[in-house]
This record gives sequence, C-alpha cells and structure tokens, in this order.
Amino acid sequence: MVGWGLGRNGEPLKERVKKRKPTVRSLKRRLDKLYSEIIRKRGICARCRKGAERVTLQTAHIISRRNLAVRWDLNNGIPLCYSCHFFWAHKEPIWFNDFAKEYLGEYKFEQLKMRAKKIKKWTIQDLQTLLTQLEKLKET
Ligand SMILES: [Zn+2]
Repeated sequence: MVGWGLGRNGEPLKERVKKRKPTVRSLKRRLDKLYSEIIRKRGICARCRKGAERVTLQTAHIISRRNLAVRWDLNNGIPLCYSCHFFWAHKEPIWFNDFAKEYLGEYKFEQLKMRAKKIKKWTIQDLQTLLTQLEKLKET
C-alpha cells in the first residue's frame, strides 16, 4: 500500500490516497498484489514443496502477465519459491510448461490457453468488479 503514515502537517496520508480516483494503472497494481496474495495462500512451492515458513513464495504466471486476458486468472498462477521461479521456471520454459499442464490438468490448461487467445480490454468498471471479487475470495 502507498504510505499509510502521516503527512508533513500530521494529516493521515490514507485520507489523501482514498480521495484519489482509481485509475486503470492503480487498479492493475492493486489486482496484481491481491492476485499474488491469493496464489501464495496455497502455502507451498508447487515444485520443490518447501513451505512458506521456509521460503518466500512468489506467484509465477503460466502464461505471461503481459497477456491481460489471463493476468488475474486464478488458473494462471502457480506459487513458486524464488529459486524455482527464477532459476527453473524462467530458465527452463519447456519443463515449466509441462509442469503447468500437470499442475492444472490437461482440461484446465487448454481452457486457460483458449482464454488467453482472446483480446481483453479492461475498463475501470471491469477492473473494479474483479477487484471486489478477488477481495472476497482472499477472505475465504
Ligand atoms: Zn521451490
């Protein structure tokens, strides 16, 4: 979150942040953070099986997050530790691809690929709706 401290005159910064209208950019940033938190809640690295108490988990995207159609698709995220993420998933995309197919199961994997082929234009309203959905999901 952006500065929750006090401003120069002692006013809470939170208030100023709140008043600002959400932009596509700020909503995307909040969605990225929330999405990652939800994926990491699975608690262990999907590859080496080390738990969050031993390693810092990250969220790896099966299909690049540059693809906006599936950037916040819950089937597109896999919790991986830093090592598996950067030294394996990013370095060995072929094995990561096979792994992702097994992780999701063939059907979900193919469905994800289909969704990724669509061009998705997100409006502010769409992003806000998704944010609300993910916020609810995070609590469950
Ligand atoms: Zn790992």
